Amino acid sequence: MFDLIIIGGGPAGYLAAERAGHGGLKTLLIEKRFIGGVCLNEGCVPSKALLHSAKIFDYAKHGESYGVTTTGASIDQKAVIARKNKIVRNLVAGIKGQLKASHVTVKDGFGEILGRDNGIVKVKVGDEVFEAPKLIIASGSEAIVPPIPGAKEGLEQGYVLTNREILNLDLIPKSMVIVGGGVIGLEMASYFNSVGSKVTVIEMLDKIAGPTDREISSILQKNYEKKGITFKLSCKVTGLPKGLVEYEESGKSGVKQSVEADYVLLSIGRRPVTAGLGLEKLGVLVERGHLVVDAIGQTNVPGVYAAGDVNGHWMLAHVAYREAEVVINNLLGKRDVMRYNAVPSVIYTNPEVACVGETEESCTAKGIAYRVASISMNYSGRYMAENANGDGICKIVVDPVRKRLIGCHLIGNYASEIILVAAMLIETEMKIDDIKEFIFPHPTVCEIIREAIFQL
Ligand SMILES: Cc1cc2nc3c(=O)[nH]c(=O)nc-3n(C[C@H](O)[C@H](O)[C@H](O)COP(=O)(O)OP(=O)(O)OC[C@H]3O[C@@H](n4cnc5c(N)ncnc54)[C@H](O)[C@@H]3O)c2cc1C
Repeated sequence: MFDLIIIGGGPAGYLAAERAGHGGLKTLLIEKRFIGGVCLNEGCVPSKALLHSAKIFDYAKHGESYGVTTTGASIDQKAVIARKNKIVRNLVAGIKGQLKASHVTVKDGFGEILGRDNGIVKVKVGDEVFEAPKLIIASGSEAIVPPIPGAKEGLEQGYVLTNREILNLDLIPKSMVIVGGGVIGLEMASYFNSVGSKVTVIEMLDKIAGPTDREISSILQKNYEKKGITFKLSCKVTGLPKGLVEYEESGKSGVKQSVEADYVLLSIGRRPVTAGLGLEKLGVLVERGHLVVDAIGQTNVPGVYAAGDVNGHWMLAHVAYREAEVVINNLLGKRDVMRYNAVPSVIYTNPEVACVGETEESCTAKGIAYRVASISMNYSGRYMAENANGDGICKIVVDPVRKRLIGCHLIGNYASEIILVAAMLIETEMKIDDIKEFIFPHPTVCEIIREAIFQL
């Protein structure tokens, strides 16, 4: 008998387990594959390890803009993957150590809910049955494989990949087609473009980068077009025969076009993992594939919670962490609720894109009054010093009545590190006049936020 059972050892699950164990709850964490989940093993961390190798390679190839000439720069894909694997191993070992230190019992295997009796949930792993009054479902998400002819066969034969396989690809393909121009697709497009593949991105919408500010998406696209990536927007993939990607342009249905591809990445989105969990035994509400939770992460069944990608809110690791924390705080008797108005999101391309809060487009859609200040990143001396011909921008969105920041959108390097400042200003609802009194370190790219605020 445990106080708490957690199904899924990704960011939501392992953080919940650590916090619960630390708070004195007798906790069982069940994981069917790898502790660390998608994020550590086949998502955030491995992709960033690859992208950093690509960045170093890019600097080596294009150093002349900074007065540095190198000859014979090359990239060893096997070494890049080996380095990535080492980082993942070390981080996973660290998480396991923290779980141990928090006295969490970790069980390898598939967790299946059997039901609830007198307020006690029963979960089966192999031949064993575990019991607890509280349950957190943190089973995460998986790549969507669309029913496109050839997709299933391609996955079986290895020329069609998801995030799982691409992060272990130890060769550099001559050509790569990325189906889906969202965050994961763009990061992988960036990597394979840097290392020398001919990359084509096929996207169903008329812009890349999903809900990202339209102007920033367009700057990102132009940057990558200059680097040689081809974008096919408003196009739908219709077939994946080996060596080819067939697609149709919106409005030209029936007119088949195609592009050659040694490898194809499917990155059209992710869906919550719910199959086989036994949710129906508890009557947990699932809507459009995801578990429905309230502001404290509780499902419609008292004592049963869901955190992370499985609840379908934001499929981001840092959101998963916070959702897990909210659940555990409430379980430990501390009232805490989730807020999603200041969630930063980053695309780790080169240049990076980072956003938080409302965009001009979302304000218009919601009928929110707004003012915008948009400035070149070249207002920052450090940005200029470090980004030859950089065309980044910083755009801030302000509530003109309450005089508060409600959105910030950046394209330019270090954006990933800077965006937290904007998120904090939004979350704390700080007045624009008060923000003006902050002293920013100089020279930093972060100063761009201060510059943008003073443009209002
Ligand atoms: C390529 C890629 C790059 C990404 N980059 C970023 C990024 O830069 N920043 C960011 O914030 N997010 C990123 N993400 C998203 C991030 O990985 C997820 O948001 C995060 O992993 C969600 O955490 P989670 O705990 O909800 O689920 P997961 O990480 O999916 O973990 C769920 C775990 O549950 C286990 N599980 C499922 N069912 C069962 C069961 N029945 N029994 C036992 N175990 C089970 C799974 O094996 C898995 O380990 C990226 C994702 C991908 C694919």
